[in-house]
Amino acid sequence: MRSLVLVGPRRLEWQDPPAPRLSAPTDALLRPIASAACDLDRRIVASPSPFEPPFALGHEAVGEIVDLAGDTAGLRVGQRVVIPWHISCGTCENCRRDLPGACVSVPRLASYGTSVGGHWGGLFDELVRVPWAEHNLTPLPPAVDPFLAASAADNLTDAFQAVRPTLAAHPDAEVLVVGGTVSLGLLTTLSAVGLGAAKVTYLDTDGTRCATASALGATAVPVSAYPDRLEGRFDLVVDASAATEGFRCALLSTRPGGTCVIRSVYFAELRLPYFTLYATGINLVTGPPHASPHVPEVLRLIDDGTLDPSPVLAGPFSYDDAVEILREPPPAKPVFTHGEPPDDARPLIHRNSGQ
Ligand SMILES: [Zn+2]
Ligand SMILES: [Zn+2]
Repeated sequence: MRSLVLVGPRRLEWQDPPAPRLSAPTDALLRPIASAACDLDRRIVASPSPFEPPFALGHEAVGEIVDLAGDTAGLRVGQRVVIPWHISCGTCENCRRDLPGACVSVPRLASYGTSVGGHWGGLFDELVRVPWAEHNLTPLPPAVDPFLAASAADNLTDAFQAVRPTLAAHPDAEVLVVGGTVSLGLLTTLSAVGLGAAKVTYLDTDGTRCATASALGATAVPVSAYPDRLEGRFDLVVDASAATEGFRCALLSTRPGGTCVIRSVYFAELRLPYFTLYATGINLVTGPPHASPHVPEVLRLIDDGTLDPSPVLAGPFSYDDAVEILREPPPAKPVFTHGEPPDDARPLIHRNSGQ
């Protein structure tokens, strides 16, 4: 079967490994039908990272169930489901605490599409095995386009959960999103606006993303470089910059008693402006996105139109073009499907202007 493998920096190729098979009673076999590139995939492809190649790439997808083992009565062949990025058992202490990204039945950060925590395949592959399938998979509402839902596996749900807890407790909270990666900050903005935040500010060094954020309903603050802090009364600040200056700006822009959620992935140890933070007093939230418990709500909000991620997406592209597009990605989040692109192709199809 066809598998998209990262063999080195900027070196992607289709390989033909043996197809995965059902090997435990709770397994399902899935065919990804809409796969999105996580913001992290760009960095993994473009440069050396802690993820040692070779490995199959991809960890955001909607798939179609093609086979089921015996202990999967709640699922059926042909069903379309979101496949979360993480591998989790559903029964360990952390899974029962709704922290499947910290499942203790598998190695730490076990996931599709990386080489930490073992090799589980990638979600651009033709076929993937999903263990503990009933626990991990969330059926797609019939009217939801897989193209729109692929990122619910990771970035979209991550963005949603970055803002939902604070906005649920404090509906009048003012939100600052420090952008910098292709989709995460914009998806956070989309989520905050969709959840009715009183005021959402989006700061970024990229003018195009600022324009998108503005169209999504945020007050955009384009900057040439991240400031030390942005003046304001930000109860909730989300760092989606993946830049150390953006990280610092997010921390220092959080008002006393506020919450700063770090959604960027940093590979290095970062300096913390600790004494200033001590004087301010903030709540700092970090960690991997625990997607699966929150995917049903994200899908419900896509279904009712509250969350429409299409302004943040590029494509649909054909899987056949994945090597070329992932090496030179568009300035929006690429999504791959098996269907022919419609004549009125979606906006933001730009092939040659990488991040
Ligand atoms: Zn990811
Ligand atoms: Zn577990």
